[in-house]
Amino acid sequence: MAMIMKMENHKVKAAKTYIDNVYNTVKERNANEPEFLQAVQEIFDSLLPVFVKHPHYMENGILERVVEPERLITFRVPWVDDQGKVRVNRGFRVQYNSALGPYKGGLRFHPSVNASIIKFLGFEQIFKNALTGQAIGGGKGGADFDPKGKSDAEIMRFTQSFMTELSKYIGSDVDVPAGDIGVGAREIGYMFGQYRRMRGHFDAGVLTGKGVGYGGSLGRTEATGYGLVYFVEEMLKDKGMSFENKTVVVSGSGNVSLYAIEKAQQFGAKVVACSDSTGYIYDPEGICIETLKHLKEVERCRICEYINERPNAQYFEGSENIWTIPCDIALPCATQNELDKNAAETLVKNGVKAVGEGANMPCTHDAAETFLSNDILYAPGKASNAGGVAVSALEMAQNSSRMPWSFEKVDKELRKIMTNIYQDSIKAADEYGMSGNLVAGANIAGFVKVADAMLFQGVI
Ligand code: NAP
Repeated sequence: MAMIMKMENHKVKAAKTYIDNVYNTVKERNANEPEFLQAVQEIFDSLLPVFVKHPHYMENGILERVVEPERLITFRVPWVDDQGKVRVNRGFRVQYNSALGPYKGGLRFHPSVNASIIKFLGFEQIFKNALTGQAIGGGKGGADFDPKGKSDAEIMRFTQSFMTELSKYIGSDVDVPAGDIGVGAREIGYMFGQYRRMRGHFDAGVLTGKGVGYGGSLGRTEATGYGLVYFVEEMLKDKGMSFENKTVVVSGSGNVSLYAIEKAQQFGAKVVACSDSTGYIYDPEGICIETLKHLKEVERCRICEYINERPNAQYFEGSENIWTIPCDIALPCATQNELDKNAAETLVKNGVKAVGEGANMPCTHDAAETFLSNDILYAPGKASNAGGVAVSALEMAQNSSRMPWSFEKVDKELRKIMTNIYQDSIKAADEYGMSGNLVAGANIAGFVKVADAMLFQGVI
């Protein structure tokens, strides 16, 4: 017995040293990339039991390979604004890992975009995509372009210039971008048009999130928000709870937020608040999703406009204060690190029962720890926001077969995929001695799929 214990200790020590060494090298090489390092650490923290149980991953140097992108492309995006002035932005595409299929991941247009943000998103995307069980690798891209206040013509000129360069690196069997912050159906449409014009052929599978009239999938717009709620519903069901009659707070008011609000309300919850980057609205009667969708999707207004339509609603400056509103379920759906330790402690004090991440890495490391140590149900974005990319892969399948699916078929498949991701994450957490910890479970389940595929393919 003592001998076995000694051997086990030896294995733990070896695995720990291996992870620490790889992390230190990553830190040295990417010293100025805090978001990337945060994402790497979050995944590495979960993998100790995997390397203890399966040392062959260490022996084959999987971690140092998986953490290094296959390719990082940066490029100049010159365009002319409405005043005739030449502007230059920086474009990015990280083609992180293609062991499971073509690179797949969204494009983000936001002034904060840099290599660190794109690499954190791309790294997470590898494991998220693996969790869906579909044949898609991980990638991400975007530009430090600020779409706020730009005219439609400026958006078109910028996206056309962006695609003129990006088109050299993508293709339906190579790399298939989609939307993310600042990139919705309008931007995807302009990019698709430019790609088609340059290539001279209709390659429907080169982008997802397209309009339904020209190769897009029904249900893609709703997929991330609906998928998040399906995932959280599974998590609640395991504890004998549901969305029914729960008070919910959702941050953001973009694509993910709008459809998370809609589905949570369809499941019987009352969603009382949502935000944008300047403030939040509180509607004690429950947000009117039709009014909100019209303001955000059609009129493209700021969220403060909502109170003009709903006399009992209030608007408050300071989006971070949204987490002071007491709720049963919190769904951060805006951006990375939007919910910190203070906010997490306030939510716990106010009796929150479950937190589901719609955004990528919206909770800081300390906030996540706060939820876990207080036994709050906590769904990590890598698993709970995978619905968007899952339906993107269904869009690719429809494009390949040239057969559109009904909304019901897509939605049913989405719900099945989200349930499977939940079950796989729970099972992996159990198997590796981390029962109930969905962060560890999702990281491990995703990692093992990618690592196994890489091992089969040699030193790649
Ligand atoms: P979006 O449509 O551009 O919406 C983003 C929303 O978040 C906007 O309402 C924005 O407000 C708000 N926001 C930004 N920073 C904020 C802050 N600090 N505090 C409060 N609100 C803030 O983007 P999205 O597609 O919904 O993406 C949201 C998140 O989900 C991102 O983390 C993205 O990576 C992730 N995600 C998206 C998908 C997808 O299919 N779209 C899939 C998986 C994950 P302003 O207008 O004021 O900037």
